[in-house]
Amino acid sequence: MQRVVLGRTGLEVYRLGFGGIPIQRVSEEQAVETVRHALEAGVDFIDTARGYTTSERRIGLALKQAGVVVGPAADKGAATEPAGEEPATAPPRPPSGPRRVVVASKSPARTAAAMRTDLETSLRELDLDYLDVYKCHFVATMADYEQVIAPGGALEALEEARAEGLIGHVGITSHRLEVLERALDDGLFDVIMVCFSFLEPQARETVIPEARARNVGVLAMKPFSGGVIDDARLALKYALSEPGVVVLAGVEYPHLFDENWRVFQEGSPLTPEERLRLTEIRQTFAKVFCRRCDYCQPCPQGVPIQTVLGVRQLVKRMGKEVLRESPFWPGIQKGHECTECEECMSRCPYELPIPDLIRENLRWLDEEE
Ligand code: SF4
Ligand code: SF4
Repeated sequence: MQRVVLGRTGLEVYRLGFGGIPIQRVSEEQAVETVRHALEAGVDFIDTARGYTTSERRIGLALKQAGVVVGPAADKGAATEPAGEEPATAPPRPPSGPRRVVVASKSPARTAAAMRTDLETSLRELDLDYLDVYKCHFVATMADYEQVIAPGGALEALEEARAEGLIGHVGITSHRLEVLERALDDGLFDVIMVCFSFLEPQARETVIPEARARNVGVLAMKPFSGGVIDDARLALKYALSEPGVVVLAGVEYPHLFDENWRVFQEGSPLTPEERLRLTEIRQTFAKVFCRRCDYCQPCPQGVPIQTVLGVRQLVKRMGKEVLRESPFWPGIQKGHECTECEECMSRCPYELPIPDLIRENLRWLDEEE
């Protein structure tokens, strides 16, 4: 099974990590069992977020039950290989002692004060005194980015936390490639997290090679395009075909984890038939799949278009009950105020029929009620 060094962090992990979104939608007992199962199978990278409701707490419980360690001791002396270099085989495990697991979380805070508060909450929820990576989450626009890196911005709090030994490395996540390109140019982050799937392959040509050249670690999120892609095996094989990145796949049940882990263990390349199938699926979704880039904004009615267009994935990922209580819900309801003016359509690079998709998604949601 392939391992990768996560850029200049020096953290060496398996190329398939565990994403913390889906465990929100099952009971706590089920969630803890799933994460513990993944840890016992060998997973050594777990990603979660302040915004994933119960995810941090549940992961914290599973880490305890699995008896693994989280901490900086194992980092020492590891930062010598460039990003993307992969040993042919996994290095031998230490002969004794608990296994080391890398844990990352993130916060959408934009100011230093809010980021500090969120980091402390994350540590408390996970019941840890150290996190390997903490990221500025969902930095949606260039204006958000400027706020994050400005004096008094979120990055300042993360640098202070690093100096205090509360975190090891800083990262950034965005659905917008130019934000990540700017972050790479500025050189302020050790890790980037980017959407990468066969419906969103663009990072393969842009930020992934750039990050590799700059020795910045790459986490590939949404390998199933946020739940749009039903053929998990195919989707995962595609994401894993990009060398040097850690692919984050979240699941809520142990048997689903086993299926993903098996694909990873097999490590087999896409067959010509699978490539053909990928092309067919891409064509099917080309005019309905929202890439969450926000180029269509601003909407004069204030409709958060990508949220409304992604409502099916949100229901799939959180369950309707959790979604109704989440910060997404008021935005989804805002979709009813769409006047079908079509201003947004001229700005969408993928030429999506946005008002039609808003209508369809809201109708689907009503029928689900
Ligand atoms: S069509 Fe609807 S979503 Fe698009 S800009 Fe007009 S009001 Fe906003
Ligand atoms: S509707 Fe188009 S422009 Fe708006 S977020 Fe989705 S893909 Fe991007």
